[in-house]
Amino acid sequence: MGRTFVVVGGDAAGMSAASKAKRDDPDLEVVVFEKGEWVSYGACGLPYYVKGEIESLDDLVTLTPEEFAERGIDLRQHHEVVSIDREEQTVTAVHDGERVEQSYDDLLVATGARAVVPPIEGADLDGVFTLHSMNSAATVKRALSPPAAVPDDEFQEGYGAQVHEYLAAANPDSVGIIGGGYIGLEMAEAFEARDMDVHVFEMLPHVLAPFGEDVAEKVEGHLESNGVGVSLDTMVERIVGEDGRVTGIEADGETVPVDVVLVATGVAPNAELAGENGVELGETGAIATDEYGRTNDEHVFAGGDCAEARNAVTGEPDYVPLALTANRAGRAIGQTVTGTPTPVGDIVGTAVVKVFDLEAARTGVIDHEIAEAAGYDPVSQVIEQGSRAHYYPGGSPITVRLTADRESGRLLGASMVGREGVAQRINTVATALHAEMTVGEVEYLDLAYAPPFGPVWDPVLTAAKVLH
Ligand code: FAD
Repeated sequence: MGRTFVVVGGDAAGMSAASKAKRDDPDLEVVVFEKGEWVSYGACGLPYYVKGEIESLDDLVTLTPEEFAERGIDLRQHHEVVSIDREEQTVTAVHDGERVEQSYDDLLVATGARAVVPPIEGADLDGVFTLHSMNSAATVKRALSPPAAVPDDEFQEGYGAQVHEYLAAANPDSVGIIGGGYIGLEMAEAFEARDMDVHVFEMLPHVLAPFGEDVAEKVEGHLESNGVGVSLDTMVERIVGEDGRVTGIEADGETVPVDVVLVATGVAPNAELAGENGVELGETGAIATDEYGRTNDEHVFAGGDCAEARNAVTGEPDYVPLALTANRAGRAIGQTVTGTPTPVGDIVGTAVVKVFDLEAARTGVIDHEIAEAAGYDPVSQVIEQGSRAHYYPGGSPITVRLTADRESGRLLGASMVGREGVAQRINTVATALHAEMTVGEVEYLDLAYAPPFGPVWDPVLTAAKVLH
């Protein structure tokens, strides 16, 4: 009998693994269990779907179930895997109330993450949303638009559509966003574009905590200049409601009236399925894996938002749930289970976010406490330079903060903010981090130059020069 590769979770990590494994070994039986309807979708596009720049959820889908079937992948939607028997090498899924058993030779747990809702009083009121799944995005959009603007078939998982129709009828025009992380800020832009009053509540001293203070301060000013209210150092005490529905957010003893609330306070790995069945979890709470994405069981792999990955700067396991990490891990695991052992690759936590007209980005370790805990003696410098040659029209300032180890000069991380050219520049630093370069080496990189794209000494080179 042939071998069977079973995948739990039908999105970035899961479908990348399934596709790669089937392509590399057409004789391998590949079975994917997905508890919902949607597979192979780009959750990263959800804020732009709510904003209205992307019309339909279907536009976010990379490959349809039919296309996976054509590739010979046995995709089973609406199958929730509820247990793993590692001794017998079987998983049990529930479909339409029936239990289905499936044996495996190798198993990939790619169950992703979920939005976390802190225990705030009033979080269960109507009009309180999170944004993580495709369906939650359809629900938010339905709540804001006239109902006809979101057709019923967008609600493939049949939840939320009716519950929030009254909100559409009420035509809500103000929103409170709890959490100033990247999803909260992308959604601030989306709500603002729908002519809503937007107020962001952040319990920390700054928004975008992993991007550092220099970036955050610029972003906060930019949010305010775009009409978004920002309350920092502000713990939301409760979500206030009337007749079961949201009317305001209470914080610092005051109530800000809002018609809807988006809770964007972070995500947690869906690691329970693995953890409850004897697969080891790491200190971060995500599934612990080796460099091949293998867990403590040699036949069980984990990748994507449910798993840890090794941070190339600290050398330690880390949890940074991002899309490329998931796609890369899936692809590598697909190769490994078909006989070509392939490391999933280290991460440096490279991230970029668009907030109205600003691009904010970060990579590596920029927090001195984290750097010190990893054994470094960190030193940082901040520079500001134009995004184009000083004489070329249309440029704008880019702020670059570079961090390095004082003694060895090894580059540890960077954050940047500006109106253009930030996303591409952070990738230069990310590449340098993977290559374990020193600031002295970065200073003499041969980077492209022409007046419309930057000064002759690119801001990354200037920052390295100043830090060296
Ligand atoms: P997921 O995409 O979460 O997929 C996991 C799948 O497993 C789900 O379909 C789920 O239904 C299924 N599943 C879970 N449990 C079971 C079970 N027991 N049985 C069967 N199926 C199960 N990342 C970036 O890099 N850049 C961005 O700009 C960005 N923007 C984002 C914006 C938003 C609003 C969101 C929500 C995420 C964003 N991300 C971004 C993160 C990115 O979407 C994730 O890193 C990526 O989707 C992770 O893929 P995954 O396959 O690990 O998990």
